[in-house]
Amino acid sequence: MRLLLKCLRLGRRRRFRLLRQVEQLWHYGHLCLRSLLYNSFTNGDVVLDSLFEPVYWLVDHVTRWFGVVFVALVIGLTSSIVAIVYICLLPLILQTYTPAWICWHLAYGHWNLIMIVFHYYMAITTSPGHPPQAKNDLTGVSICRKCIAPKPARTHHCSICNRCVLKMDHHCPWLNNCVGHYNHRYFFSFCLFMTMGCIYCSISGWDMFRDAYAAIERMKLLEKERLQVAANQTYYQTPPPTFTFRQRAFHKSVVYLWVLCSSVALALGALTLWHAALITRGETSIERHINRKERQRLQKKGKVFRNPYSYGSWDNWKVFLGVDVPRHWLTRVLLPSPHLPHGTGLSWDLPPCVTEQRAPLLAI
Ligand SMILES: [Zn+2]
Ligand SMILES: [Zn+2]
Repeated sequence: MRLLLKCLRLGRRRRFRLLRQVEQLWHYGHLCLRSLLYNSFTNGDVVLDSLFEPVYWLVDHVTRWFGVVFVALVIGLTSSIVAIVYICLLPLILQTYTPAWICWHLAYGHWNLIMIVFHYYMAITTSPGHPPQAKNDLTGVSICRKCIAPKPARTHHCSICNRCVLKMDHHCPWLNNCVGHYNHRYFFSFCLFMTMGCIYCSISGWDMFRDAYAAIERMKLLEKERLQVAANQTYYQTPPPTFTFRQRAFHKSVVYLWVLCSSVALALGALTLWHAALITRGETSIERHINRKERQRLQKKGKVFRNPYSYGSWDNWKVFLGVDVPRHWLTRVLLPSPHLPHGTGLSWDLPPCVTEQRAPLLAI
């Protein structure tokens, strides 16, 4: 009996010792891991970012790859619309319209097309601008965590381009490029002229679309009748007349043109309006979120937020479009112009075209 009790006590002691060893090992491993991963800047956001890093990596790579596909899609769809206009609609316009209307369609259509092509080409080929990587004299800048390099005001890191971008607005997959300081105007002008072009095609092609749609419906009905006749064919019945290939292609092209143009006009029109509102406020898409948070934070303290990069609605547009003198509205806005934006994007001095000196800093 005594021997049995001794054995039990020994077993309990051994188990206890084993448990203590496991506990010690756990604490040691935990300490090792913490000492290896310790960083005074680590917080919940950093941990969450690290956990989502594989997802970000995947999204970034897919977007980078799809960028090429999207650019090809824009070029392909635009070219198809232009081809339909030249092959199907222009001969019809020349035959049926009065000389004044022909002149208007030729002049407006070609001007709009040139503006679209010019601004799209410039938006995809112009670099948005990047801060210098080497040591420089930039003062009052933060450091980018990814590039480990100075990050001037309004600059943000693009994870798709893997670089910091000056006055970054967003990464546009349709351009396969970032929208920033040097190509922001090209991006907006492209959106605006593309919307205008789509609205022009939708309005001027409305009557043709209705006729073509009705013709396609008639085509379907005739096809149905033809099949019925073929099923109960007798020697005395002749099949109903069918549309020629040329007629079918014409009607389908007109319907395709109108549906595509009106859809793009709605979607791109909404995007253009949104960007126009941002430009009026002197903000980029990223700053819109930052400023809203800042506005709410200051509001709780009873203070008013003031955007340091806004010079007033009208002046914001003049700065954005680069209009220094009245004739620039014609030469720089209504005609293709490769002029550079104000400043270098590294510092934000008051542009010369801004008439009034305003308080430059936000009320903190
Ligand atoms: Zn960066
Ligand atoms: Zn980018």
